[in-house]
Amino acid sequence: MEALKQSVQYVKGVGPKRAMRLNKLGIKTLQDVLYYFPRDYETWQGIKKVRDAVSGEEASFVVTFDGRANNQKPRKGLTLTTWRCRDETGYIWCVWFNQPYRARLYSNAKTYFVRGKVVAKYGMLQLHNPIVEEYLPSVHDVHKILPVYPLTEGISQKDLRNITASVLKRVEGRLHDEFPASVRKMFGLVEKNYALRHIHFPQTVQSLKAARRRLVFEELFYIKMALSVIRQKNHMEQRGLVFEWDQFRLDKFIYDLPFQLTNAQKRVVDEVLQDLKSGRVMNRLIQGDVGSGKTVIAAVGMYCAALSGYQSAMMAPTEILARQHFNSLKGLFENTDVKVECLVGGLKNAEKEQIKARLASGDIDMLIGTHAVIQDEVIFKKLGLVVTDEQHRFGVRQRAALKEKGQSPHMMVMSATPIPRTLALMLYGDLDVSIIDELPPGRKPVKTYHVPPSMKSRVLDFVKRQVAEGRQAYMVCPLVEESDAIDSQSAVELFESLRNGELANLRLGLLHGRMKPQEKERTMEAFAAGQVDVLISTTVIEVGVNVPNATLMVIENAERFGLAQLHQLRGRVGRGEHQAYCILIADAKTREVYERMKIMTKTNDGFEIAEKDLKLRGPGDFLGVKQHGLPEFKIVNLVRDMEILKEVDVAVNRILQDMDNPAYKALLEYTTDKFNKQLAEITLN
Ligand code: ADP
Ligand code: MG
Repeated sequence: MEALKQSVQYVKGVGPKRAMRLNKLGIKTLQDVLYYFPRDYETWQGIKKVRDAVSGEEASFVVTFDGRANNQKPRKGLTLTTWRCRDETGYIWCVWFNQPYRARLYSNAKTYFVRGKVVAKYGMLQLHNPIVEEYLPSVHDVHKILPVYPLTEGISQKDLRNITASVLKRVEGRLHDEFPASVRKMFGLVEKNYALRHIHFPQTVQSLKAARRRLVFEELFYIKMALSVIRQKNHMEQRGLVFEWDQFRLDKFIYDLPFQLTNAQKRVVDEVLQDLKSGRVMNRLIQGDVGSGKTVIAAVGMYCAALSGYQSAMMAPTEILARQHFNSLKGLFENTDVKVECLVGGLKNAEKEQIKARLASGDIDMLIGTHAVIQDEVIFKKLGLVVTDEQHRFGVRQRAALKEKGQSPHMMVMSATPIPRTLALMLYGDLDVSIIDELPPGRKPVKTYHVPPSMKSRVLDFVKRQVAEGRQAYMVCPLVEESDAIDSQSAVELFESLRNGELANLRLGLLHGRMKPQEKERTMEAFAAGQVDVLISTTVIEVGVNVPNATLMVIENAERFGLAQLHQLRGRVGRGEHQAYCILIADAKTREVYERMKIMTKTNDGFEIAEKDLKLRGPGDFLGVKQHGLPEFKIVNLVRDMEILKEVDVAVNRILQDMDNPAYKALLEYTTDKFNKQLAEITLN
C-alpha cells in the first residue's frame, strides 16, 4: 500500500520537528509506525468508585474538582499542588509534584477522568501525579490495555499512542495481507489488519496474544524464507566447481590417518565429497561438539581440492588456532606432495610477500590463516575451497567477502558452538547442515567439579598430582572484564604468584593476548611438546587448542563465564586416552550461579548446555545476533518463540515445494522485497 511509505511527518500532530525525533527511534514512514511495537502494556481496569480505591494501586476515577487548587512550597525546590475531587461515593485528593500549572487547568463545571497511583495518607486518599482528561464515556468507560513504547527525548508515551492510533485509523482495513487465508488457517494466524490493531491497542489479553503470535510468525517467516530461497538457489545453480580427484590417493590418505574415522565422520566426509563433485557450490555447515573431530573432515576436503588441482584456504578465529591447524595439517600431509602454508599477523613483511607471490602463482596448495586471509589483498591462482573454523566468530558478510576471492569456491563452515537444532536451521538457513553426533571411541567424559574459592589449595594439590602422573594442566584465570589488557594482567599475576608459591616446583607457562605472536607460539609449542606442566592462560585458549596429554582444566571465577564458553574451555581436555577433569572454582553466591555450575557438572553434552545457556542468558548474549549478519528482531524472542519457529519451518518448506501456487505470489514478492538488500549482501559471489 502506497500510503505506508509516506513520511511520518505528515501524520496529524507530528510535523518536521517531531519527525526528526521519531527518526531517532527508527520511525520514518507510516509503515515504521505500525511496526514500532510496544515493549509492554498497561492495563486499565475500568473506572472505580472512590469508595473502592485501594492504596498502592493504579486506578481510574470519574470525578469533579471541588473549589480551588492549593499550591504549597513545603521546601525549596518542591511545589505541591493539591486539589480535592469527588464522585458520589467520596473524596480523593489529586497531588502533583512540581506541576503548579495544574491549578489553572481544570474547571469546576466539568467532569474529569483521572488516573494515577492511589496513596492513603493522613487519613485521606490521594492520587499521585494523576493524568487528567475530560471525561468521555466512549473513551474512558472501558477496560483497556494500553501500549507502552520505548521512548526518546521529546516524544511522550501519549504522543506515540496518538500517532499510532491515527496511523491505524488511516490505513486500517485496507492493508493487504501477504499471508493468504489458506496459510493463516493452516497455522492459526490472525489477519494482518487485526494483528496490527491488537498489538498496539489490544481489546483483550487473548487478542493481544493472537496478534503477537501472528507478528512473530511473520517476522521469523521472512528471514527463514529469504535464507531458504538463497539455499535453494545455491542448490539449483550448476556453476559450482566440479572436483575430479584420484580416489585411490584419497582413500590411501584416509587409510593412513593415525586413527579410523568414526561412522559420523565417514558420513560427513561422504556428504562433503558428494557436494564437491555435484556441480553445485557447496555451502555446508559442519556441526559437532568439541573434540568430535572436525579438523580431519576439513583436511579430507582440502586434500580433495588439491588432488583436483585447486587451492584451498582455511580461516581460524585466532592465530594460535591457525598455527595449530597449520601444524596438524602439515603432519597429516607429510607423506604427500601437498604444500601447506600459514599466513598470520606475526610474519615478517618479506615472508608475507613471498607467501602471497607463491599463492598467486599457484605454488601453494593450502593456506591456513586468520582474518588476514580475507583482509589482505591475497590473491589465489585457483581457489576451490574455503573452510572457516569455529564459525560463530565469522558472520554471513565475512563469509561472503571470502567467497569473492575465488570464482565461487566451495564453502565449508565448521562450528563447535552447539546451537539448538531449530536455531541452527534458522541462523544457517542458507547452509546445508552436517552433524557429527559421535565422539571418537575411548573418550571418557570429562569429570567436572564445582568447588568454592576456599578450596583453592586442594585444587593446586590436585594439579600437582596430575603432573606427577605425567599429565599437564591448564589454569584459566579470572575474566575481569571484556578487556584484553586487564585479563592479560590478571594472568600475569596468577602466574607470578603460583611460580613463587605453591607451584614453584613445576614448569609453568604463561599465555595471554598481549604477548607477541612468536612468544605465544613458543609457549604453545612448549606446552604441546610436554615441556610445560601447567599453562596459565586467559581465554585465548578457548577454542580449538588440542593437546591430548593435558587432562586438567582449572577455571577460576567460573561464574563470570557463560556456559557455552565453559564448555568450550572444558573441551580443551579429554582429548586423549587418560581420564580428564575440569574444576570450576566459583563462588556460588546466587542461585543462578549455582544452577549454572550444576549444569556443567551434570552433563558433557554441548547441545544440552547450549539450550540451557540460551534459556538462562537470552538470545542476545548467546548469539550476538548482529554478528551473524541477521537483522535484529522487532518482536521475536528466540527463547520464548522457539515453538513458533518450528511452525515457520513447516510453513516455509510447504511453500517452497509449491512456489508456483498463485496464493503465495504476494508472500514471495514481499520476502524478496523486504530482504533485497540482505539477499544482495549474502549472495555476493
Ligand atoms: P574438534 O571437532 O573439536 O575440532 P579436533 O578435530 O580438534 O576436534 O579433534 C580432536 C582430537 O581428536 C584430535 O586430537 C584428533 O586427532 C582426534 N580425532 C579426530 N578424529 C578421531 C577419530 N576418528 N578417532 C580418534 N581420534 C580422533
Ligand atoms: Mg576444532
